[in-house]
Amino acid sequence: MLQIEDLQVELDADAGLVRAIDGLRLSIERGETFALVGESGCGKSMTALALMRLLPENGHIAAGDVHLGQGSGRIDVLGLPESQMRSVRGGRIGMIFQEPSTSLNPVMRVGDQIVEAIETHTALRGAAARAKAIDWLKRVGIPEPERRIDEYPFRMSGGQKQRVMIAMTLAAEPDFLVADEPTTALDVTIQAQILDLLRDLQREHRMGLLLITHDLAVVSGMAQRVALMYAGQIVEVAPAAEFFAAPKHPYARALLRALPGAGRRDEPLEAIAGTVPPLWQSFEGCRFAPRCGQAMPRCSAAPPELIDVDAGHQVRCVLYDGGPVAAPLPQPVAAGVRAPAPAATPQEGAAPLLVVSDLKVRFPIKGGLFQRSVGHFDAVAGVSFSIPRGRTLALVGESGCGKTTTGKAIVQLLRGTATIEGRALLDGRNLFDLTGAELLAARRDVQIIFQDPFASLNPRMRVAELLDEGLAALQPDLDAGARRARIEALNDRVGLRRDALDRYPHEFSGGQRQRIAIARALAVQPRLIVCDEPTSALDVSVQAQILNLLRELQTETGVSYLFITHNIGVVEYIADHIAVMREGRIEEQGDCGPVLSSPKQDYTRRLLAAVPKLPGVGPVIS
Ligand code: SF4
Repeated sequence: MLQIEDLQVELDADAGLVRAIDGLRLSIERGETFALVGESGCGKSMTALALMRLLPENGHIAAGDVHLGQGSGRIDVLGLPESQMRSVRGGRIGMIFQEPSTSLNPVMRVGDQIVEAIETHTALRGAAARAKAIDWLKRVGIPEPERRIDEYPFRMSGGQKQRVMIAMTLAAEPDFLVADEPTTALDVTIQAQILDLLRDLQREHRMGLLLITHDLAVVSGMAQRVALMYAGQIVEVAPAAEFFAAPKHPYARALLRALPGAGRRDEPLEAIAGTVPPLWQSFEGCRFAPRCGQAMPRCSAAPPELIDVDAGHQVRCVLYDGGPVAAPLPQPVAAGVRAPAPAATPQEGAAPLLVVSDLKVRFPIKGGLFQRSVGHFDAVAGVSFSIPRGRTLALVGESGCGKTTTGKAIVQLLRGTATIEGRALLDGRNLFDLTGAELLAARRDVQIIFQDPFASLNPRMRVAELLDEGLAALQPDLDAGARRARIEALNDRVGLRRDALDRYPHEFSGGQRQRIAIARALAVQPRLIVCDEPTSALDVSVQAQILNLLRELQTETGVSYLFITHNIGVVEYIADHIAVMREGRIEEQGDCGPVLSSPKQDYTRRLLAAVPKLPGVGPVIS
């Protein structure tokens, strides 16, 4: 169905010529799901963009061939004139992008966007196309599709926007689908629904699927074959079952060990040391050598080739070439694992840091020519919980259940846009009553790490300026030298290279941007951090570093976390308590272990049942 031969993609960057993809070769059968996994910046998404010929302006395909289809329908994707490529793109090859907020047109109703895709790529027109669009919205799980088809994207949650985009892509009935992190922003029940839908469509249409994800549990449930990428190259390709049962490449083994879960709660996760190397440099030997626990002198002598180790199983590592195996060289320690961070034990009788009682958040619904208030929507309908000092409460639930709104209300980001009732007592002071200097102090005490790091970082500011901005505003007593010293320490602490401070957010991968966001929240030494899906867009090794880092900081500083997530593996690893939200209310709450092992409510049971599981690692993982 799809054949890629020796693909090389280069980007012109300030630092020089970046070899984003270096000699990629793979083929995907009709009806097959082939997963491409690896860390941020390894070239997975660039592969998808190259297939669609949607490379950024500074990128070009330096070499290679891409063919789609068989027999008379076979096309040379890289050789087609752009006018023909336009009908292939979105028609024969569909693509679900990673960030729905940047992929949907914000000034077009969602229905019009789906109808446009249907009319461009199928024979349906007018009312028939609209009926089909409603049908697709229903299939991807959008409630009240007849009404919501006329809404604009901003009225929808992140998960709902992602579902709209999936509907728009699948409505064109492509032969081949490239899905780049298609369910990363979704909660587990919707994820299960979307993955079932993709499986059904594959069966119905024998569609080929290139699944790009950092979620290994999703891969194990979906893919027939897996390729692991590292620094622009494939380092292992294998049948999925074989890959998960007995991964061969040291990087693959390290990735599986970095997964969080209940069984690993008492120890730091095994984060992989260092980061993916910058791809403007030339490589003498193995690209993974600086991070590999088994690296030996000959690993740096020449670039290893992909070696056949079994039928359909290839590995790029000298451990399998039959040559001598020497003692491993000493390795650096991974960022975020400086000290063991055992799970906290509840402090009996400790006064809670935060007590939320009967919190209600109500948004006005505007309508008519003058956008007057025509009703209201209760996003949070009376929730109560408390967070002890130095402890973590996980708030879980489906998209739109009110968990992010709860977090934003506590951080005081909804003043003036919503009606807030109830109390949020931080050390006895009600956050909702504060003004002036007291409000400023509370803003320092309660910080937030957002779900989408790109949207939360000012693109015109360098990292050092981003970190300095909050420090200067909330800690005016610090002089420029003290602020710079703290910024440099934070930068090191979150595992970024020192030269990161002089660069802009767009120069970083998603995982690196999230580390910048975490450093910014930590800069003012808060007592409570609302972490809103902080690791949902990260690959597992970076996630392990961030989780270790958050736990270490909690042990060192006693900071408390309100951890909003849909990743049950992360909850099992980091949280002491859990509250399960549904439609603005808390369905069930308690200590993490009992709630997750024997939930009392049907809803919690259904939520847990939808979590994809990786054999041998436990009921974890997003
Ligand atoms: Fe590690 Fe050497 Fe194999 Fe590279 S070639 S993965 S450094 S053992």
